[in-house]
Amino acid sequence: MQATQAGTARRSDVGELQADVLVCGGGVAGTMAAVAAARHGARVVLLERYGFLGGNATAGAVAQFNSWQTANGRPVVAGLAQEAVERLRRYGAAGEHETFVMSTGHRMDRVEYAPEVLKLVLDDMVRDAAVQPLLHASLLDVSRAGRRIEAVRVLTKGGLLRIRPGVVVDASGDMDLMQQAGAGFLSLDEGEALQPATMMFRFGPIDFARFDALSAAEIAALARRGYEDGALARAALHVARNPCSQDGWFNVSRLAIDATDPLALGRAEMEGRRQAWNAAAFLQAQVPGCERGRLVAFGTQVGVRETRRVAGRHVLTAQDLLQPVQFDDAIAAGAYPIDIHPAAGGELEYTSLGDDHAYQIPFRSLCPDGLDNALVAGRGVSATHQALAAIRVMTISMAVGQAAGTAAAMAAQAPRGATVASVDMPGLRRVLQARGALLA
Ligand SMILES: Cc1cc2nc3c(=O)[nH]c(=O)nc-3n(C[C@H](O)[C@H](O)[C@H](O)COP(=O)(O)OP(=O)(O)OC[C@H]3O[C@@H](n4cnc5c(N)ncnc54)[C@H](O)[C@@H]3O)c2cc1C
Repeated sequence: MQATQAGTARRSDVGELQADVLVCGGGVAGTMAAVAAARHGARVVLLERYGFLGGNATAGAVAQFNSWQTANGRPVVAGLAQEAVERLRRYGAAGEHETFVMSTGHRMDRVEYAPEVLKLVLDDMVRDAAVQPLLHASLLDVSRAGRRIEAVRVLTKGGLLRIRPGVVVDASGDMDLMQQAGAGFLSLDEGEALQPATMMFRFGPIDFARFDALSAAEIAALARRGYEDGALARAALHVARNPCSQDGWFNVSRLAIDATDPLALGRAEMEGRRQAWNAAAFLQAQVPGCERGRLVAFGTQVGVRETRRVAGRHVLTAQDLLQPVQFDDAIAAGAYPIDIHPAAGGELEYTSLGDDHAYQIPFRSLCPDGLDNALVAGRGVSATHQALAAIRVMTISMAVGQAAGTAAAMAAQAPRGATVASVDMPGLRRVLQARGALLA
């Protein structure tokens, strides 16, 4: 017994890693935050539990970046997000910018990409910016001194590592670091439910000449039949084409869970694969152009749309987006509509925007209440359920990540004890614009 204890004590010796900025979570928001912080001169550690970056964009295989512009074509997202797409194109792994008609009849713009190649592009961006990636490493816990995060402990293959960052950016999607730090979270209103998760699956080969010839009404009718027959978990046949091959990633399953519940998450992975398998059989049997196809791959994990939303200095609301409110501290813009997937039955709840309608995201929505050296980015920012349903898309997540990383570097470079809230706002906005970001 004593020998075991002594051995355990030796094994749990904690290594140290230095960082001005620690980014927790290497999804698209976190990776852009890390790259932006490093390009602004900070020593950055990027912590990611998988062996690759991208989160929903790679592990979840979402496969299309939506909404770069307003309905009449005014660009609202560029900066690092645009750079990622240009790098994908150099690998031959992203399509052209295009507008398509959704099964709901709404028009939407997008760039399709190959999720496997995005892993490589994010590696390149992180390597070129001299970010220190810490892959295969999961957040363990956080220690605080008053309003500041002092240290973060991480579980790695080599044992525990302690990082004492000047500033942290929580981009873990589920806001795991904020949870460990004791931050507050926003709750759902009466009648609201978390958006469901989806197991994406790759299916092919597809004869796209025939598939794309189907009208939106024909696709909607096929999807409705699949749903009513029980072959599809929701009435959709939504596919993002793989630019490198004759197949695509289908977004048709539906898993109504709280993905921070570990048992529910495991059940959803299994149920997601079952739904995907049934959907693939339906495609093969019923959908023109899909007769020769088969299920080629599942996403590495279910794609998670929504879990925790941090309580921040400003809670972004649907009204802020629809009006739209012009914020003095705007650090990113967007034009994606409010798009709520119901947890069961029914169609998407979809609030289209006017032709030239864009909205802004204020810096204060990235600042968690009660913490002086922490920011959040991506799908956990301080926003209502409805507002998050718009700003959660990857284009906007990348733009917010770029802003969070730049601000984190600025705060880390300020005199000791400076707070993220005191970052020079005109200065931050100038730097973002100089680096290609669009703020309106
Ligand atoms: C099914 C589905 C379809 C979607 N469709 C579209 C679409 O068509 N177009 C579009 O633009 N957007 C779409 N979205 C939205 C978009 O994909 C996400 O909102 C966006 O990718 C969120 O990025 P993120 O970086 O904030 O979070 P995530 O992608 O969730 O990344 C979080 C990262 O943190 C890591 N992590 C989590 N916890 C820990 C921990 N404890 N320790 C270490 N690492 C951790 C994860 O592994 C992950 O890499 C879709 C989302 C889903 C789920």
